[in-house]
Order: sequence, then C-alpha cells, then structure tokens
Amino acid sequence: MNQIKNNWFTESCEMWPGGTFSIQVKEVLHTEKSQYQDICILDTTNFGKVMVLDGIIQCSEKDEFSYQEMISFLPLCCHKNPEKVLIVGGGDGGVAREVVKHPKVKEVVQVEIDAKVIEVSKKYLPFMAVGFDSPKLTLHVGDGFEFMKNHSQEFDVIITDSSDPVGPAVSLFQENYFALMKSALKPNGIVCSQAGTMWNDINLVSNTLKFCRNQFPRASYAYASVPTYPSGQIGFVIGSLDNDVVFDTPSLVLSPEDLKAMNLRYYNSEIHKAAFVLPTFVRSILA
Ligand code: SAM
Repeated sequence: MNQIKNNWFTESCEMWPGGTFSIQVKEVLHTEKSQYQDICILDTTNFGKVMVLDGIIQCSEKDEFSYQEMISFLPLCCHKNPEKVLIVGGGDGGVAREVVKHPKVKEVVQVEIDAKVIEVSKKYLPFMAVGFDSPKLTLHVGDGFEFMKNHSQEFDVIITDSSDPVGPAVSLFQENYFALMKSALKPNGIVCSQAGTMWNDINLVSNTLKFCRNQFPRASYAYASVPTYPSGQIGFVIGSLDNDVVFDTPSLVLSPEDLKAMNLRYYNSEIHKAAFVLPTFVRSILA
C-alpha cells in the first residue's frame, strides 16, 4: 500500500487539500480490491484496528463509538416512536449495533452496497460487526439510492452512514436522494446523514444541508468529535417531516443508568443538545 512509509499510514485527499493525517501502523492485516473500492485493515499503535476504504479512514477501534452513537441516537432520540429504522451504508456494522439498543426500535433494515466490507468487518472488526447479529436486523446487499426508489412511507428513521462523496457514495449526497428518503419515510419521519466536516469541507456541509432543507420542513447540522476523521470532527445533517420537532431537545432523555445499561460512551442527553450549537462562522455560512 503506497500510503504506508516507514510504518506510518498517511491519509491525504483532494477533498481536504494541503494537509494530511498519519497514524503509526503495527501491521497491515488485510488488503483487497472489491468491485467498488480498495479495502484495507490496519493494526495501529494508538488507534487499534482501522478500516480504510479507497485510502480514507472509515473507523478506528479507539474512537468509532463517538460517530456510531451520535449518527444513531441524535435522530432516534428526536423521534417520538422510532419503531422501524433504515440504515444505508454502514458496512462495518457499528450503526446497527447502536440502533438496536434504542428501546422503541422493533425492526431495522440495512442496505450496504459492498458485501466485501461486511465480510472483512466480520473477520477483523467483530466489536462493530456484532451489530449484524441482532434478530431485529434484515441486511440487504445493494445500492442505497436504488433501494430507496422502491420504498414508500415505510420507515420512521433513515440513517445514511455513508463513505465520503467519491465512488459509490456520490449519489447519497445529492438532492434527489433526500427527495427519495422523504418518500420512504412515514409521517413525522426523520433522516440523518453523514455530512462532512466544518473545517475542511464547509461547502459539502452547506450543500448537503441545503438539499435537506429543500425537502424537509425542519433541518439542521450537528457535530461530534472523532480524532481519526479529517480535522478531528464529523457532522450530520438531520431533517424531519415533523414541524414540531425541536432537534436540540431529545424526546427520550437517557438517565446515567440507561447510558450504562446501553453501553453509551459518547452520547448523552447533554451532548445531544450541545451537538447542535454551532461556532459563529459556521452559523453564518449555514444560515
Ligand atoms: N463512518 C464512516 C465514515 O463516515 O467515513 C462510514 C463507514 S461505512 C464503512 C460506509 C459504507 O458506505 C461503506 O461500507 C460503503 O461501501 C457504503 N456505501 C457507499 N456508497 C453506498 C451506496 N450507494 N449504497 C449503500 N452503501 C454504500
């Protein structure tokens, strides 16, 4: 893998030019080229097992819980009764692992385009792929955009745990995808999509939020801290068909006992509120 030199893996990408992020590698555990992307699993000194797709870090054993918990519990706790949930992407299993913890979730459907990502995650990232073991989950291998065309008024919450908008994920960042998700939702449904970082790609954040706002009466941007993502931060665009939703006031408030029982290590009801408080420069760009 030509991104590794002297045991350091360096991520650089045209989406965040002029800067790189490096992690020290103990061992390259797996590399392969699937039909859709290059898949690589690293064992690293400080971040444990790391999955890299097309040269971009997707998750690390050390910090993955922050992303998985926030992209799941922000929308789930904004919805009054999230019984049926659709996950698009999420081939590592981490979002499924979190979604099934919510007490009101009865049924989860997931559509991931790349069977190889699922297979590799089951082998090397069992702490995430455990999500695939839930009896609540039905897993499909296919394109999330195409899947959405065939579903109408079916889901309470749709979570798009997508890779960045290069390769197979490009369609998941377009306005017609938000229109399709809107049709696939039941009344008062909520969507939540990975939507880039405010420091490196504010245009991506701004465009994704604009597409969401064009389709949903209520839309907002929230963020979390994830050290292995570019600039250490990742954001989520969240949209609701419920005009009365107040995104920063969770309808389900989790007690310290709940957090412990559900093994939530990043998400809590205070961080839910705080995630929607934006820095002044972001607020003015997204206004
Ligand atoms: N948390 C990660 C991040 O933000 O970098 C994303 C992790 S998850 C591994 C992303 C998954 O989205 C990948 O497994 C990829 O195969 C899947 N994906 C990309 N495009 C897709 C599409 N059009 N339909 C379904 N899954 C897709």
